[in-house]
Formats: sequence, C-alpha cells, structure tokens
Amino acid sequence: MFTPIKDILAGKYENQEVNVRGWIYRTRSSGKLAFVTLRDASGIIQATVAKNDVEEKDFENAKKALIESSVKIFGVVAKDKRAPGGYEIRAKKFELIGKADAFPITEYQSEEFLLDKRHLWIRSRELMNVMKIKASLLKYVREWFNENSFYEVTPPTITPNACEGGTTLFEFNYFDKKAFLSQSAQLYLEALIYSLERVWSLTPSFRAEKSKTRRHLAEYWHLEAEEAWVGNEENMKLQEELISYICQSLAKNNRDELEFFKRKTETLKNIEPPFERIKYEKAVEILKNKDFDLNYGMDFGTKEESALCSDIEKPVFITNFPKTVKPFYMKEADEKTYLCADLLAPEGYGEIIGGSERETDYNKLVERMKKQNMSMKDYEWYIDLRKYGSVQHSGFGLGVERIVRWVCKLEHIRDAIPFPRTINRVYP
Ligand code: ATP
Ligand code: MG
Repeated sequence: MFTPIKDILAGKYENQEVNVRGWIYRTRSSGKLAFVTLRDASGIIQATVAKNDVEEKDFENAKKALIESSVKIFGVVAKDKRAPGGYEIRAKKFELIGKADAFPITEYQSEEFLLDKRHLWIRSRELMNVMKIKASLLKYVREWFNENSFYEVTPPTITPNACEGGTTLFEFNYFDKKAFLSQSAQLYLEALIYSLERVWSLTPSFRAEKSKTRRHLAEYWHLEAEEAWVGNEENMKLQEELISYICQSLAKNNRDELEFFKRKTETLKNIEPPFERIKYEKAVEILKNKDFDLNYGMDFGTKEESALCSDIEKPVFITNFPKTVKPFYMKEADEKTYLCADLLAPEGYGEIIGGSERETDYNKLVERMKKQNMSMKDYEWYIDLRKYGSVQHSGFGLGVERIVRWVCKLEHIRDAIPFPRTINRVYP
C-alpha cells in the first residue's frame, strides 16, 4: 500500500512506517546523507536517506538520481520543523524505478521553450494546480446540473453547420463532403430540449481565431446548457447561480490551490446572486465617458470589456446587444436588440458566458438567414424544430478555460489547458 503525500503532511502518520512513490522534485546530498524531495499528485515531502540506514546501492541511487526520476521510498515519518511542510520521511529503503535524463526545464526558460516542452512542463506546480482547480470545477458543475435536474447529453463535434459565424470555422474533408469542427453544440441542444427539456453538455469547441489574444484558444472546453419553457431573465438567474455555486465550492474545498495563485477565498465567497445587469446601450455610454471612441452598434473587444469589468467585485451581465453584433438565432427584444446577455468576469478578465433566449418564429429565422446568405439546406433540420411544438427556450455557453483563467488569475488562457492549441501552435 502506498500513502498519498498529502495524508502524511496532514499529520496522520507521525512515527509510523509508510510507503510513498513519486518523482524527485529536488535533491541534494552531503557526505553520508541525501535529501530527496518527492512529489506525487497530492503533494511534496522531503525524505532523508542516510548511508547507514539503507543498502549501499540504494544510497548511491539516492545521491545520484536526477530530478524527475521515479522512485519508491519506504521509511518512518518524523515531525521536523526544518522540513518543508513540517514532516519528513527517514528512509529505510530507496528504490529507483525510472532513472531520468537531465531534465531540460530549468529555472528562467522562455515561454516558447516551455510550450515546446509542454509534455514535461505539465508536471510543474503551476500547471498541476491549474489542472486540479479545473478538475474540481468540472466536478462542481456536474453536481450543480444534477441537483437542478438537467440531463447531460452528448452532441456531435462534427457538423455541417457554422453556428457562431463562418469566419472562424475549421473545415475538413468528411469522406467526399465538406464538414466543420463544431464551434458550439447549441443548435443540437435546442433539438434535445424537445425530448429532455433541460440539457447540458461539455464538449470541445473549435474556433480558428486569427487574432492573437490572451483569452482565445483554437480548441477550448465549452459547457453549454439549454432549457425549455424559460426566457432570458430566468436563463441569467441560472447562470448566476451556477457561477456562484462554482465559486463557493472552490472557496470551500480548494484552499491550497487558490492560495498558490494568490486568489483569496474571501473574494470567491462574495460571489453570490444577483449579478448586476447593464444594458448594452448603457455600457456604450459608460465607455464613452471613459474616452472610448465607439458608437451604438459596434461590438466590444477585449479593451472595452476590460474597462467594463475591471473595477467590479462580482461578474456583471451586459444585456440587449444590438442585432448587428450577434448571431441569427437570438430572440428579438425590440426592433434593434436581442434578448441576450454576455457575462463578464471581474478584475478585467472579460466574457466568460454568452447566452440568449432563442428565436421561435419560423419566418423570422428564415428571413434573417436569407439576409445573411446562409445555406437553407444545411440548416433545414434546425428551422424544422420551429414546426413541431415550438416553445420558448433559452441557453448559454461557458468557456471553461475562461473561468479557470479568472479564478487562477492567469496571464494567458493557454495555461488553463494542458496542451493549448493556438494560431501558431499544435505541438506537442
Ligand atoms: P469572444 O467575444 O470573447 O470571442 P464569443 O462571443 O465568440 O466570445 P460565444 O460564441 O458566445 O463567445 O461562446 C461562448 C463562450 O465560449 C464565451 O463566453 C467564452 O467563454 C467561450 N469562448 C468563446 N471563444 C473562445 C475561445 N476562442 N477560446 C476560449 N473560450 C472561448
Ligand atoms: Mg469570438
């Protein structure tokens, strides 16, 4: 049996014998003593290997093994103030399992080098903590959807439709036809509400984002929900409850990781419904007062969003965007605007969710699609949904890496995913 390092650091094994296994994080030796800091998925602990306590071969290995070698250690746990974490293991056996070559990643490497060595860099404290936050977040999301009677569904990621607009589509040969990698599961979720009413899905979405920003990936994890019988206001309530649940759960259960990123749990605990709602029109006024040069009808870019959300403590909804900047499927609020909302994260992190009530009127949809020269043939199935028991419905899409970036205060979204895909990178 092997003991997770975290449990030893929690003080459960003082003066007891344990078996641990992991990878060498740091190592140094002096004379008859080797100090080997060991890392497993749960934590880091120091082991001392004394020449007189282990077999000669093991002591040589403990002295010589380079960082990232995999090892198994058997020994006694001792409380020791000098050891990082307050406990150390006094080894009785030291078994070298996989000897490591000289690890290419040392301190002060360029970003590009770390991205080239991503398969190794994911062992870093930073990325391990990001991945733990992400795994927890996905767990909380599942809990929340289960609690709220949503069905998880599995829509396709190969599609004949564009959905969010043609310019950022990845196209490929699908046997003898053209097909696309999905940008959103929304249209399929809309179809699924007629069987299950409340549905959600987690799929990769693909967007050929040609501009380099710190919040766009070419492949990201998209969490989408769609609900029958509700309008946009209820849709927003759902979003603020979900986001609050995620923040509360992280604050409660992920203290260590949050601390690593200097994210105060108090900040997350304060995130509770309701979130402020600001109409696009009002947002334009706010921006103009901040000396932005823009007019009604223009979309918000990174700078505009940052200006709207840098001084706030809770996420904020920007609602009622003009039709000119949003896709064809949204329901109109009035002649100029849609019943929609983007949710912006605090501290300038910008959009984390896009949502709307969907158009249910067959003729209006067809008219808009024709205006935009969309292929009626490819979307026939979608407008068909308006013919067989159409109901009011709304939904939203959340970028998982966008939330992780915000919660972990990451400079760049690529660190919210283990193997980032961006305009100039598909390796490793
Ligand atoms: P943006 O204006 O930031 O490009 P969008 O309007 O294209 O976002 P939607 O089409 O509404 O975004 O997608 C839903 C959510 O998916 C967004 O709110 C965001 O959280 C996330 N998202 C969109 N594009 C990306 C991307 N390229 N990389 C990572 N997450 C993304
Ligand atoms: Mg976009």
